[in-house]
Amino acid sequence: QAKESGRGGYRFFSPEMNQKLLERRALEADLRVALARGDFRLAYQPQVNLETGAVMGAEALLRWDRPGVGNMPPDRFISVAEETGLIGPIGTWALQEACREAMTWPDHLTIAVNVSPVQFRQAGLFEAVVSALESSGLAAGRLEVEITEGVLLNDTDETLATLRRLRSVGVKIAMDDFGTGYSSLGYLQKFPFDKVKIDRSFVRHLGDDRSAEAIVRAVVGMSHALGVHTIAEGVETAVQADMLRQRGCEEVQGYMYGKPMSGDDFVEMLTCSTGVSHS
Ligand code: C2E
Ligand code: MG
Ligand code: MG
Ligand code: MG
Repeated sequence: QAKESGRGGYRFFSPEMNQKLLERRALEADLRVALARGDFRLAYQPQVNLETGAVMGAEALLRWDRPGVGNMPPDRFISVAEETGLIGPIGTWALQEACREAMTWPDHLTIAVNVSPVQFRQAGLFEAVVSALESSGLAAGRLEVEITEGVLLNDTDETLATLRRLRSVGVKIAMDDFGTGYSSLGYLQKFPFDKVKIDRSFVRHLGDDRSAEAIVRAVVGMSHALGVHTIAEGVETAVQADMLRQRGCEEVQGYMYGKPMSGDDFVEMLTCSTGVSHS
């Protein structure tokens, strides 16, 4: 079918490349429809104080039930949303929705929202955050923006300015997936973070890999020296939780404490328990 395309360039594409292109086009079209129809949802995963077991807040995670396909994980569509510019409106929606939902929670709880590198660099990110706070009425100090190292790789001055602006109004900044890719301990000094999220890839190997243990120890130690809190991602076992506690990590997030769930289920979990108990 590629050969019959009226567009000259396509005829030299391999069938496989053409297939990929068509799939991307279909995905982009479906994302547009989902955005217009309001098909996206947010799931909330509890963040728990490791010492007391108290729920401190939740991370909002994008969910999409793609028609004809079913649940599609964000890792599989965020990149297309970034390439097509759709990440702007999708991210703005997520900020609005997350803040609105968090207003229904007890007011000591925080809400963390992921902001992708492309979204972060777009003009109007700061304004979108402020608008989400104003229209929901959520106190700025309850909102945490999660960024990855991808945000920090380019445009350092502008990035730094945006981070400072966000913090100047009281919004918290968390460094997501810390320790993966090119992120270095130097980032902790250079950029103003309130929280460091230790990536799941290290947490997963706690208990069976000495180097993972050493990395966790180093990240927690350095973070504390700089006055930054740490939270471990992807905690699934009591062994992992114990090792994290021994190393001074303050907070945890993971299937052991709760999978991402609907806003209603999150509120129900809050009322049914005062936290996860530890032995
Ligand atoms: P992330 O921000 O690092 O989110 C953590 C991911 O780990 C989530 O996957 C979560 O469901 C998963 N997870 C949490 N605890 C456990 C555990 O104990 N074990 C395992 N195996 N996995 C666990 P999810 O929801 O599929 O999201 C994947 C990524 O997509 C996120 O990684 C984030 O980078 C991105 N994402 C999600 N929602 C948004 C959004 O609203 N905006 C943007 N820009 N990106 C988002
Ligand atoms: Mg995150
Ligand atoms: Mg992460
Ligand atoms: Mg991630």
